[in-house]
Amino acid sequence: MDRELETALLSAVDERFDEQLEFLKELVSHPSTRGNEQSAQDFMAGQLKERHLAVDRWQIDVEDIRHLPGFSSVIGPYDDAVNVVGSYRSGKRSGRSLILNGHIDVVPEGPLDMWDQPPFAPHIDGDALYGRGAGDMKAGLASNLFALDALRACGLAPAADVFFQSVVEEECTGNGALACLQRGYKADAALIPEPFSETLVTAQVGVIWFQVHLKGLPTHVAYAGDGANAIEAAIPLINALHKLEDKWNGPELRHPDFAHVHHPLNLNVGKITGGDWTSSVPAWCVFDVRMGVFPGQNIDAMREEIEAVLLEAASSNAFLKQNKPSVVYHGFLAEGYALSQDKSEGARSSISALEDAHQTVTGEALDKVAITATTDARFFGLYADTPALVYGPKAEAIHGFNEHVSIDSINRITKATALFIARWCGTEKL
Ligand SMILES: [Zn+2]
Repeated sequence: MDRELETALLSAVDERFDEQLEFLKELVSHPSTRGNEQSAQDFMAGQLKERHLAVDRWQIDVEDIRHLPGFSSVIGPYDDAVNVVGSYRSGKRSGRSLILNGHIDVVPEGPLDMWDQPPFAPHIDGDALYGRGAGDMKAGLASNLFALDALRACGLAPAADVFFQSVVEEECTGNGALACLQRGYKADAALIPEPFSETLVTAQVGVIWFQVHLKGLPTHVAYAGDGANAIEAAIPLINALHKLEDKWNGPELRHPDFAHVHHPLNLNVGKITGGDWTSSVPAWCVFDVRMGVFPGQNIDAMREEIEAVLLEAASSNAFLKQNKPSVVYHGFLAEGYALSQDKSEGARSSISALEDAHQTVTGEALDKVAITATTDARFFGLYADTPALVYGPKAEAIHGFNEHVSIDSINRITKATALFIARWCGTEKL
């Protein structure tokens, strides 16, 4: 790419950067937790339309995607699960096409009194923009959009089709990204600016979500010895799952990309409910678990192992031995994905285009990381033969209190994305 164009793109990002931050604040002010994404998606659709992209806004139909690889068990109804895609269709199509993907859903904010300021009242303090979803990953959605704007400000358009995707369901199933694939959105590469500190993610773990349902025998607590306490029965089962976690993290099972990662597969008991009355031995308990798996590991085989461990642990409880726990899958059944294993020309050249863009903006080489979480990248990489580059800004406390994203980092990511689009897609005059 010529120097002049580079310089023009970089200053185009700077010129509109205040507007980009205002856009991001507006987006963060929409509390787009699971099931509540519509107002944020309306805002996105409006912004795409203003930019003359062809807007496709549709409600996900589970029947369309249920049979596809990568489908995860659905939590709750999909009446309000709406995806938004803005398509730019190139006239010449002389370059390589691109998907710019981001998720609009954010995780619950947790107890409000733990936040210094309300989570959906975004504010800036120094280099940080605060709010739930600011980092994960509305800053990324903003940077995708304003990177495209930078090209237009220079009188240019991508010389290939570009699909801007704002998807739901990333935080629990990935079915939003899957629905985009099913709807026919394909490209030569995908870029997902998840907040991993300006590094390129070259491997990500898979994730399984499951619920363990336990029964108990209710009695008045005066005769507790005659009952069976479903809540306390969960404790040995949770301990057994942690033993399995130790085994799965052992050196002999390690995926090479995670050889030097400390404890890559994390088991989390994220929710627990049970019982009805303080003086009654509880008749039921349900706990929700998240467990990681390595790229290449088979989800069904891992599920079998989890269930076997739970049954084995339950067999030393007299009541549970007769009343076996049931395991319900209610969210992620996500395989791991390693871009590092993709030896295609597309992967090689898209990584190289991003390396160049990053180097130009930061003056540094692009670091590569293996992450202990999942992203929607797996759908493109595993099920659509599309190299998926996860590369986004630096953020802190994602999924925690006082989540915030670095403003300087957003600026650099937006610039690198604009250069990447120009390098990867090529450009044509507007
Ligand atoms: Zn995310």
